[in-house]
Amino acid sequence: MTWARKLWQRATDLLPIDGFHFDRPLVLFQSDDWGRVGLRDREGLERLRSTGLTLGERPYDYYTLETAEDLAALSAALKRHRDSNGHHPCVQMNFILANLDFSQMSVNGWRQIRLLPIAEGLPEGWVRPGLFEAYRQGIADGVFHPAMHGTTHFCGSAVERNSEMEGERSGLLRMLWQAGTPYIYWRMPWIGYEYWDPEKPEEERFLPFELQRELIGHTMGSFARMFSSLPRSACAPGYRANDDTHRVWAQHGIRVAQNGPGGFIPPHFDRNDILQLSRTVEFEPATGTNFSVDECLQQAESCFERGVPAVVSVHSINFHSTVKDFRGRSLRALDEFLTGLESKHPDLLYLHDEELYEFVQSGSYESGQGSTRVNVSKKKFTKAQARKRIE
Ligand SMILES: [Zn+2]
Repeated sequence: MTWARKLWQRATDLLPIDGFHFDRPLVLFQSDDWGRVGLRDREGLERLRSTGLTLGERPYDYYTLETAEDLAALSAALKRHRDSNGHHPCVQMNFILANLDFSQMSVNGWRQIRLLPIAEGLPEGWVRPGLFEAYRQGIADGVFHPAMHGTTHFCGSAVERNSEMEGERSGLLRMLWQAGTPYIYWRMPWIGYEYWDPEKPEEERFLPFELQRELIGHTMGSFARMFSSLPRSACAPGYRANDDTHRVWAQHGIRVAQNGPGGFIPPHFDRNDILQLSRTVEFEPATGTNFSVDECLQQAESCFERGVPAVVSVHSINFHSTVKDFRGRSLRALDEFLTGLESKHPDLLYLHDEELYEFVQSGSYESGQGSTRVNVSKKKFTKAQARKRIE
């Protein structure tokens, strides 16, 4: 089966498809992992260190959870900038809609996973005054826009399988859970991603359709409870989505699927009528080894030259501050990046995914001051070509 699938993959990569191109510079920000707890601040750090875990080897050792102050600072930074229409840049936040319910899990001897939807609050021991109000305020102000990441970031069955087997892995899970931290991915990639179990045979790694349908149904429900709306854009954890995922998303009204970086792939529709968007600029000061604002500006220029949107990837960790101040540097870099874009492009437009979807459908979108015209054209491309064009 594997060779057949690979052959099919190669064939689709060579198949010409209609890609959407635009005659104005468009900039979107896609940001993952909001609402997902990590290290429980200083206290969690000290607790894990006391068990002998050496933290600090990689940035994600210091991933915590955003605070109301982090969001206020991000919102203020975005409000200092405007596009040619007078709109502020908008960070589309992809939310993880549940965390582990550590107190429930301790009752059953840490044997099974129990989830706590963020609509019901944060796990025991976590304190974030004003955080949920800050999400909602930013959304009301138009500088944040909520979208769907998942219910959990990890594959539930992979975590449960490993936690049931006594050994090093279950020991590590329990040590983290007792300190109020669900996981630190790079230390345990065997936990996989929500729809993808890495230790299954290659053909079975994506969860079966029925199971994905059940999970996505739950996620939609949790999103509605949290935001009193339904998401229209989704990004699978770890970008691990297959046709089954897209089919279920489409059934639930998802219109845009977000994909990871890898070439200047123009927005295009898949066979489920979902607009597929690929990230084209990696703005990750907290984790990028050779991060530079100039490089990001160059990546954006390359997009504009090709008539494709600059889809900026920026993970939530960049704005965290409670254990390590990632936020300060990121906001300074963001300010410089936005200033660079605005000074060079008087016709610049900041959008989020749903607005881009509207552009593609109608060639215009409604803004507060009326509608804005953007000429949208279709050009054939192949994914193989688009990937090769990374310079
Ligand atoms: Zn993520």
